[in-house]
Amino acid sequence: MKATRHIAVLGAGIMGCSVALYLARKGIAVTLFDEAPEPFTGASRWNEGKIHLGYIYSADSSLHSAQHVLSGGLLFKPLAEDLLATSLDPVITAQDDIYLCHRDSVVAADDMAQYLDRVSELVRAHPDAHHYLTDVSGATSHRLSAAELAANSDSKEIVAGFHVPERSVETTWIANRFQAAVAAEPLIHLRMGERVLAAHPAGESVHGPWTVATNTGDTETYSHVVNALWHGRMVIDQSAGITPCGIWSNRYRQSIFLRTKRAIQTPCAIIATGPFGDIKNYNGRDFYLSWYPAGLRVDSSAVEPPPVHTLDLPDPALLTSTVLDTLQSLLPWVGDIRAEIESSRVEGGWVFAAGRGELSDPAASLHKRSDYGVTRSGNYLSIDTGKYATAPWTARNLVQALCG
Ligand SMILES: Cc1cc2nc3c(=O)[nH]c(=O)nc-3n(C[C@H](O)[C@H](O)[C@H](O)COP(=O)(O)OP(=O)(O)OC[C@H]3O[C@@H](n4cnc5c(N)ncnc54)[C@H](O)[C@@H]3O)c2cc1C
Repeated sequence: MKATRHIAVLGAGIMGCSVALYLARKGIAVTLFDEAPEPFTGASRWNEGKIHLGYIYSADSSLHSAQHVLSGGLLFKPLAEDLLATSLDPVITAQDDIYLCHRDSVVAADDMAQYLDRVSELVRAHPDAHHYLTDVSGATSHRLSAAELAANSDSKEIVAGFHVPERSVETTWIANRFQAAVAAEPLIHLRMGERVLAAHPAGESVHGPWTVATNTGDTETYSHVVNALWHGRMVIDQSAGITPCGIWSNRYRQSIFLRTKRAIQTPCAIIATGPFGDIKNYNGRDFYLSWYPAGLRVDSSAVEPPPVHTLDLPDPALLTSTVLDTLQSLLPWVGDIRAEIESSRVEGGWVFAAGRGELSDPAASLHKRSDYGVTRSGNYLSIDTGKYATAPWTARNLVQALCG
């Protein structure tokens, strides 16, 4: 490793910040760019924080999607705790998830049961199973009894339920810790409020230095460029000579983040599998609620999705009541949350996926999530983060490959 290396990291979400922190630990100077005024303002702050083990991908019976996410998901906690020098224990959901099978699910309840069992086998066999948010080395899922199901839902739309040993983290808390960690690192130079326009080799070869151009007019040279721009990634890849191939979609999704006046004991529930919704109860008072059809603002297959300020965003109060009405019609206990709302906000983020189609279509390639990771052209590296859950693991592996 040469002390003279200076690497540009594009994008200050969980991926860019994790890469920047790992590089700085190797003694490498990093310039971290983002068009937002501060790190962690996008999808990495406003997502539900499910630390995936693969149970959600029941429409991919090949298990490839589950296998792809498992190693990174299991190591999320130790890696994030190491990067942030703090324990995640206070922000891990207290109970395992309940998966509720919708009548219109693209996977029938019996097939879902079999799929969940197969994922549990994968989890149990993994050497890092005890490093997850809770120890899952004995992972099993079980089908809810009729009484257990009735306690969760009185709706005919919900045909089965499963107890699944997956947990989530409160992403806003983690976002604040990442902001503090990158700000405190002397080897990371933050260039916030700068839009990246292009990246090019500085000379003849992609194996030499690279330049980054931004809207400030600056064009600086770096030994390497790491593109972690998520929804903004492909257009910069194009400028770097990487032609987008295959299929992809950029979906902008809005969800509800609310706080209650007092602690409410409700489960963390996911309605599966298809265009449905979910509820996260992080600590009794902080909740995430989503209903996919109501929250989906745009589904774009353009190389560069439209800027958020050009989207037709609904009145937040209207969206909140639509999401709450729909969830409550399926899960009556949502009314308990609703009765105690202290504050709520609607926030959104992009989801890039190397797939397309409608979630209601079992054949949609969107159900398969095993095609993400790092693309490299000499000293230019581009990362499709894929999942929040796997970002610190991917970042660690990338920096190890780059620096030894
Ligand atoms: C509603 C929702 C729920 C989700 N739930 C989960 C979940 O439960 N579990 C899970 O694992 N994943 C989940 N995800 C996916 C997860 O949020 C993303 O995979 C992850 O946050 C992406 O991280 P990132 O750092 O790559 O992107 P981001 O956090 O979006 O960071 C990219 C940064 O790049 C900046 N940027 C983009 N273009 C430019 C440019 N040209 N110039 C300068 N800056 C630019 C943006 O401002 C942004 O800060 C969810 C996503 C959404 C939206």
